Amino acid sequence: MNYFELGDGEVHITENQIQTRIKELGAKISQDYAGTQPHLICVLNGAYHFMSDLTRAIQLPLTVDFLAVSSYGVETKTSGEVKLVKDLSLPLAGREVILVEDIVDTGLTMSYLLHYLEGRGPNSVKVAALLSKPSRRKVEVPVAYLGFEIPDAYVYGYGLDRAHFDRNMPFISSIKS
Ligand code: 5GP
Repeated sequence: MNYFELGDGEVHITENQIQTRIKELGAKISQDYAGTQPHLICVLNGAYHFMSDLTRAIQLPLTVDFLAVSSYGVETKTSGEVKLVKDLSLPLAGREVILVEDIVDTGLTMSYLLHYLEGRGPNSVKVAALLSKPSRRKVEVPVAYLGFEIPDAYVYGYGLDRAHFDRNMPFISSIKS
């Protein structure tokens, strides 16, 4: 267990636990992509801290880009609808792409984005996600680099919002449901 489970399925992941795990993921990516120049794509808004820390933990020349999909708004339940609200700036042809997500919940967002990116001719696409809630999955998505597997709790902090707020907290906590 590399985070605190508080009972009743609640989780708390400290700043130190997050940073330690990201350094491990960065080292693994540096090893796996040695000799290449990976292209990291951040899914806004939730992954912005993860993207920033992960890219600094990778010891390779790399490029970055950003896209945004519609979020829950002020709701804390998924609508299942995915809409691209900000597109990429750089081409993907021939690139080794790593899609950087905050959390994989039902998997619908990731599944949509993987199809979208694959249509743009990259050499490869893999996923780095800070969090995953496997019990909530509706479609299976491959996550090559995962920070923490968590139970079905609504989490916020470290980029993830609680009704648009709390993204600036350096740790992750959950809302009791
Ligand atoms: P999915 O399409 O996998 O159901 O949901 C993915 C998106 O839903 C995530 O990128 C994130 O924006 C949002 N999301 C899912 N679970 C949570 C959660 O527990 N907390 C927050 N803040 N957002 C979540």
